Amino acid sequence: MVDAISIILVTIFSAVMSLAVLGSLLRTGIPGVRRWFAASILAVLALVLYALQGHAPPWLTVVGANVALSGAGMVILQGCRQFFGGAPSSSKPEYVAWLVLCAGLLYWTYVEPDIATRIVLVSAFHAYVYGMIGWVVFRARPRARRQYAYRFVSIGAFLGAAGHVGRGLIYGAGVAPEADLLQATLVIMQSTLVSVVFLAWAILTLPWLSIGMVLLAHDRLAERLERLASLDELTGLLIRRAFMAQAEAAVKTAARTGRPLALALVDLDHFKRINDQYGHARGDEVLARFAKTVTANLRAGDVFGRLGGEEFALLCPDTSASDALILLNRLRTLVAQAGNTEEQGGLVVTFSAGVDQYRAGDSLPHLIGRADAALYRAKALGRDRIVIASSREPASPEPAPGLAGGQAA
Ligand code: GH3
Ligand code: MG
Ligand code: MG
Repeated sequence: MVDAISIILVTIFSAVMSLAVLGSLLRTGIPGVRRWFAASILAVLALVLYALQGHAPPWLTVVGANVALSGAGMVILQGCRQFFGGAPSSSKPEYVAWLVLCAGLLYWTYVEPDIATRIVLVSAFHAYVYGMIGWVVFRARPRARRQYAYRFVSIGAFLGAAGHVGRGLIYGAGVAPEADLLQATLVIMQSTLVSVVFLAWAILTLPWLSIGMVLLAHDRLAERLERLASLDELTGLLIRRAFMAQAEAAVKTAARTGRPLALALVDLDHFKRINDQYGHARGDEVLARFAKTVTANLRAGDVFGRLGGEEFALLCPDTSASDALILLNRLRTLVAQAGNTEEQGGLVVTFSAGVDQYRAGDSLPHLIGRADAALYRAKALGRDRIVIASSREPASPEPAPGLAGGQAA
């Protein structure tokens, strides 16, 4: 039969493995990982002390082990809060509860030895901590990402909490096997099936959570890489592919909800001249400054991307073409002002844009095609202006060749 000591040894082994993996993630600087690593060290220490029951004094194997194990739970919870951008500290009541637990452990080990009360106390604390871990991860999970890692942690934590509630109830209600209660120190060596099951249930939460923490950290890493792969290095804007993906999604939303959606194609005027006159490096600076000025003046839901070279695209959900025209004209003024400073040497850059809004039955290429035709007219009319696609604008099923073939920046 699987006995308690084997479960603890397996858990120690698994905790050490997780420690190694979490250690490899320390350099990523992901918030919370340091605490999870520290918690794993505490957990290994606690489990080793726990496994020494009967071979070492109770201040180590009972008090020390439980203090370390409950501390590990607290630090995991702190790490989870930090991972999701919260403060890493515990609340005051949590620290107080932990101190009460430590005092209780001492009291019911030395003053009035009572293993059942001790187990109830420890289980209540762990049930709270695991329940909180499950709740924090469940509540803060990013909805836009795959839910696997977050569900894995929440479910493990809630199951752990349930295991501790069960363990606490069994000992609290006095229905625990007498053999356990009589063995004040040798409880682990002499445990019966019921207590082994609950001990395993409660203690195996640790490796579950350790693997869960690694999954969370990996998901954060993947998110970082995905973001890096979709951003343009020079301007920090979305690259063409990422912009198009968002635009496709926005068109679908507009089709479903009937809410307006404006799209503008933006092209810097005579940019070749800037390169020729001031050099390519200065041209790069102008592009970066342009992107910064525009981004700083957009609304939260607006999407701005660099389609390639000095061509950009702006997507404004919940915005009509005429409102987008107002916004773009304001941007035109701001971009000119940003260049007309001493620091920029009076290097004023202007842009032209063509804008239109989603029309019923549109596909993204249709919408882009009309905005491109409007941009073409803006250029032809003398540049430094915004043109709205006329309602008679031919709705081209394909984007203009220049846009379709444009290089991702
Ligand atoms: P127009 O007003 O008709 O748009 O004229 P333009 O000179 O802006 O247009 P054209 O397409 O002839 O030239 C675009 C220039 O943009 C040419 C290219 O060297 C420059 N360019 C494209 N990408 C970059 C870049 O990343 N950095 C710099 N410095 N220049 C770039
Ligand atoms: Mg240009
Ligand atoms: Mg161009």
